[in-house]
Amino acid sequence: MLNIGQTENSSKMDKSQILAKFSSDPERYYKVSLFEEKGFVRKSCTKCKRFFWTLDQTQSFCPEDAENNYSFIGNPPTKKRFDYVQAWKEVESFFVQNGHKSVSRYPVVCRWRDDLYFTIASIVDFQRVMGSKVVFEFPANPLVVPQTCLRFKDIENVGVTGRHFSSFCMIGQHSIPNSQGYWKDKCIELDFRLLTEKFGIDKKEVVFVEDVWAGGGSFGSSLEYFVRGLELGNAVFTEFGGDLNNYSVLDQKIIDMGAGLERFAWITMGTPTAYDCCFGPITKNLIEKVGIDVEPKLLQEYFTAISKGLRESTDLTQVRKNAIKQTKIDEAKFNKIIAPLEGIYLIADHLRTLVFAISDGALPSNVGGGYNLRMILRRAVATMDRFGWNFDLRELADMHIDYLKSTYPELEETRDDVKTIIGIERERYGESKIRMKSIADTIKSQNKKLTVDDLIRLYESDGITPDFLKEAQIIPEIPSTFYERLSELHQSEKAEKKEELNLNGIPDTDLLYYKEDPHEFEAKVLKVINKKMVVLDRTSFYPRGGGQEPDHGKIGTFDVIDVNKHGNIIVHELKDGIPKEGETVSCVVNSKRRDGITKHHTSTHILNSSSRNVLGSWVWQHSAFKEEDHARLDITHHSALTEEEVAKIEELANAKVKENIPVTIQNYDRGTAEQKYGFRIYQGGIVPVKSVRIVSIEDFDVEACGGTHVKNTKDIELIKITRTKRIQDGVVRLEFVSGKAAHEYIKKHEEELQKQLQEKAVKEQRDKLREQRKQEAREKIPALLRQVYEPDFIALKDNEIYVFEVKSRKFVYTANDQYDEYFHINFGEELVKHDPRIVYCGVFEEGGKVRTIIHAGEEASRQNKAGDIAKAISQILGGYGGGNPRFAQGGGPNKSKKDEAINKAKSMVLEIV
Ligand SMILES: [Zn+2]
Ligand SMILES: [Zn+2]
Repeated sequence: MLNIGQTENSSKMDKSQILAKFSSDPERYYKVSLFEEKGFVRKSCTKCKRFFWTLDQTQSFCPEDAENNYSFIGNPPTKKRFDYVQAWKEVESFFVQNGHKSVSRYPVVCRWRDDLYFTIASIVDFQRVMGSKVVFEFPANPLVVPQTCLRFKDIENVGVTGRHFSSFCMIGQHSIPNSQGYWKDKCIELDFRLLTEKFGIDKKEVVFVEDVWAGGGSFGSSLEYFVRGLELGNAVFTEFGGDLNNYSVLDQKIIDMGAGLERFAWITMGTPTAYDCCFGPITKNLIEKVGIDVEPKLLQEYFTAISKGLRESTDLTQVRKNAIKQTKIDEAKFNKIIAPLEGIYLIADHLRTLVFAISDGALPSNVGGGYNLRMILRRAVATMDRFGWNFDLRELADMHIDYLKSTYPELEETRDDVKTIIGIERERYGESKIRMKSIADTIKSQNKKLTVDDLIRLYESDGITPDFLKEAQIIPEIPSTFYERLSELHQSEKAEKKEELNLNGIPDTDLLYYKEDPHEFEAKVLKVINKKMVVLDRTSFYPRGGGQEPDHGKIGTFDVIDVNKHGNIIVHELKDGIPKEGETVSCVVNSKRRDGITKHHTSTHILNSSSRNVLGSWVWQHSAFKEEDHARLDITHHSALTEEEVAKIEELANAKVKENIPVTIQNYDRGTAEQKYGFRIYQGGIVPVKSVRIVSIEDFDVEACGGTHVKNTKDIELIKITRTKRIQDGVVRLEFVSGKAAHEYIKKHEEELQKQLQEKAVKEQRDKLREQRKQEAREKIPALLRQVYEPDFIALKDNEIYVFEVKSRKFVYTANDQYDEYFHINFGEELVKHDPRIVYCGVFEEGGKVRTIIHAGEEASRQNKAGDIAKAISQILGGYGGGNPRFAQGGGPNKSKKDEAINKAKSMVLEIV
């Protein structure tokens, strides 16, 4: 069951019917020349009735039911021992010697399929979806590829079963039977020779089991090959299209042989688990760090029991229980040896998966495929926490890369980036744990039993992993369906649908915008749809697509308000009327709008590469939007951008504009483009056509893109980032303008700046003037005081200082704003010293409030305490005040009550009722 590259949509029922049909005619479907030559016999399993082919005449059980199942553990059937890296070298050299091209692995992030986040099988490398059809494109024939595949559905098995991984290497052997390629006979002969000649496995140990494969509208026979109960590979011969009732032989028959490299290494090493021989020095290193006293014999027995147990039942908890019972491991030993080993295997596995995924540009996040990565990283950390370990995850990443780089040299290029992301993620998890803990405590106190739905909600909304809940002893075990349910939830997010119009019988539109691109042209109306849309025989109107907004303009006398592409037909939406079918109309594309959109589109490409250069290799275009006067680019990045980063991106982008680099457009065969430029070309998503349009800004940016572009980068004139924002976990938005819009933005920005500067200057001038007046007022104090010594105070009125006198009580006040705190304190103090019958009240505005300062002369204070007056005034002003009998202050926000407040003070002092 290694091959799940194509979508399996046929039911199990279909499969068993196909198998029954094929197995009823083994000569036609299964008997390859190797079986004939070597004398293989065909047998039916005594237990399950399945048919298998073997050289061992005595065997009556299929490999899955045979007694010697998993007996390679501790006793490998091969003459040689190959670890993971070496096993691939052996496989590769064998196939290359036999006429295959060894192709480098494809990215684990499946950018060329919109229904998959991750590459899940080697055949996926070569599948391209065209509408509802899957076509195959092979860069060579025959070929072999060490394809790293990511699968998250069985994640709870990882580290426990001895053979499940979250990522593994599928040895893909692929062939199209034509003048270069081969079909069944050669395929099975090669696989048999690989096992027997290269790996030195005894011929009698190799068993082939009859099976079928069906999915994606095609099906064919397959032969799974086993050695001692371990399925090493499955050769699928995709031969027919349709279903069992109605099928035909495919034009393009395909061999899809997938084999697990981990298993090849395991069977030669015979270690207790595959984990012991597939992570290079890492497993051993961690075991030493933790200090586990491994007992090889015990591990052999235990993991053999686990492997055998999984044949009978898929209930892992039960299988473990049985294995513990069978091997008579006591609890103490289990906790000292088995449990920590499971943890180490899990951590090593999860880190390796992260290394591949991050290296290929995926980021851990809460959305899409990124969620799986965050989940496994948190699982690894939670496992470390549970055992109280403190491994440096970045060091582990280094060790993986060191070990794998001879097979996958590309990992070296992104080593630092991978470590950066792992470091950031780890830190984030540490920060969020405090919050997670408080939520966990609440759940614990409620004593609630959590369902799988609860667990999914807790993960989705609060990022709380079930591993964390297990560690906090809130749940005893992680439900076996949890990871699968979550995986499915996120798997379906990727594909989306478009509205269907009935366009039957309408020929493809002649796309003038890809040719001479006339902005004025004549065309014939082929069809009118829903009284508002028209299809023309030819058009220069560029449709909405890839984030580029549609052209506007006129068709006949009507305004074009929207343009959309349906297959190869362009549909124009018009406003306020519509021409007649069959009519020839003159059309005008709004050139100013197109020009603005075009500049923004090329700018998007430049900014995307600038961002990647400045920030890191994990930056990919997440989505983009290009309008006439503005645009935005969403990129994958882990944190919000700093001002410095934005400045650097903008600087690099404008440097590229200034360099005046020609923007070239060339059409390539898709496979050729992928081989030449890699999968970086799919920044704007997948391209569902055989010929791709490659837009290059020299080697600074190369993308597959259908959009309109300037001829030279200088045409853009200027790029200005106007705003950036983290719009979701792992995605940052850059809003920007270019061309005329950028100049306008800067002009407006400058005008605004100018206005702000002017306003600032006016305010400064005003403040300065006020300061000056206050200074003058302060300097006036001695002169004013001298006047006080004169027989009457009338002269003070000129300075807006008022004096009232009733029966030897004196009230002096001023509310002129030229007097400040300093003035009131000093003038008032001198004044009451000179005449102890005076109460002085200074009122002024400061900081949006009315303030008051009260001085009471020695005599006056016996009648009215300064503090009481301040309190009374403040109350009116809506604030608080107080002080001692001689000096007090207060105030409040009610400016309109200023006069009322002064009158109150006056009446208190002069006792006017
Ligand atoms: Zn059987
Ligand atoms: Zn583009």
